[in-house]
Amino acid sequence: MVLADLGQRINNAVSSLTKNNVIDEKALDDMLKEICVALLESDVNVRLVSQLRNKIKTKVNLKEGAGHSKKRLIQKVVFDELCDLVDCHAEPYKPKKGRSNVIMFVGLQGAGKTTSCTKLAAYYKRKGFKTGLVCADTFRAGAFDQLKQNAIKANIPYYGLYTEPDPVKVAREGVDMFKREKFDIIIVDTSGRHQQEKELFSEMVEIADAVKPNQTIMVLDASNGQAAESQSKAFKEASDFGSIILTKMDGHAKGGGAISAVAATNTPIVFIGTGEHVHDIEPFSPKKFVSKLLGMADFEGLAELTESISSDTKESIMKSMQEGTINFKLLKEFLKMTMNTGMLSQLGASLPGLSGMLDSMNQDDTKEKMKSMMYIFDSMNEKELVSDGDLFKKQPSRILRIARGSGTSVMEVEQLILQLETMKPMLEGLSNSGLLGGMGKKGA
Ligand code: GDP
Repeated sequence: MVLADLGQRINNAVSSLTKNNVIDEKALDDMLKEICVALLESDVNVRLVSQLRNKIKTKVNLKEGAGHSKKRLIQKVVFDELCDLVDCHAEPYKPKKGRSNVIMFVGLQGAGKTTSCTKLAAYYKRKGFKTGLVCADTFRAGAFDQLKQNAIKANIPYYGLYTEPDPVKVAREGVDMFKREKFDIIIVDTSGRHQQEKELFSEMVEIADAVKPNQTIMVLDASNGQAAESQSKAFKEASDFGSIILTKMDGHAKGGGAISAVAATNTPIVFIGTGEHVHDIEPFSPKKFVSKLLGMADFEGLAELTESISSDTKESIMKSMQEGTINFKLLKEFLKMTMNTGMLSQLGASLPGLSGMLDSMNQDDTKEKMKSMMYIFDSMNEKELVSDGDLFKKQPSRILRIARGSGTSVMEVEQLILQLETMKPMLEGLSNSGLLGGMGKKGA
């Protein structure tokens, strides 16, 4: 079961309970049963599922409150407890400017270490840190080439040696070099190892002794299932990692095994990997994760994204919002803004309305789709741009004219019209949230 299905099942369980006229013990038990089965089928450890069930039961007092407030309470308790499931309440390490922060990566081979190293380096670079990459994986042939190619693409300085077989030496030299050059963040990639490989585990400890990381991050593949817990415990014993990056959250991961690993090692997830591209990384926050799981708009994620948008663009979007309606002009500005920041996939991930459309496309498809949308917008006249789609229902001949003018098909224009409908509730939420400069929609 993929995570989206899990969210859907939890949502269905909660909404069928809240649709009931009478909320009694049996209705609550039925909802809990459905939630628990869905979590177990997603590989969440049985002990955690039973804890969650008991906590929800204790917190929901069926004797108190009227129907409506009881429903709200149940929704809130389920949300809070799901957050608690992925939150170990430990504060992760935060790199500081003005010193060298050494971050070492560990994890199983194929977990996504090398890819995540570059993603993290690019993330910190965007935040203004001077960041370098060290390849201490001398075990896997081609590891250095892979890191080098990723680093060059992302324009990040790197260090590695083709001829030196000792990873401890390479790690030490690379870190020393970047320290001398006053880099803020030095990320050290190590070779992937299996739980049973004692030698590789002791090598990992030696690298750590040599580079003295401020933070060790374990990279964990979200699709590892139940095995994730024992793998994580083995790494925790050897490397005492302080945080986790969960990769491949875009795939068909059940994700529950990783959630159990967090609880077993009492270590926070700091980022999640959501694709193979360098920008496919998101800071993890339990609330954001659960909101997304349940298909709610992720305002925290949007807040971070909107930080990087120029004030001119924000102003023009706010102007559209102040005109009072969510219209094509606004959608156009919104999509333009995300194309410019190059962060379309993150935005899509934050907004259920958009993610549905983007999920089925790869990076190149997405770019093409965006281009066609822009051609469609360009073929709309002012009246059409400021409409919210109703105009096209009344006068469908406009659709044909726009399709011809933009060189797209009638179906593509219709899809865009539908897109506005789907995204309307979310854009209204964003408009009222003040994230784009603290100004709500007119009259809000
Ligand atoms: P390593 O052996 O741990 O260094 O793993 P790599 O970084 O080489 O990654 C193994 C494979 O997983 C590569 O094909 C990556 O492109 C892919 N990968 C890594 N992270 C993600 C992710 O978040 N999503 C997806 N879909 N693929 C990923």
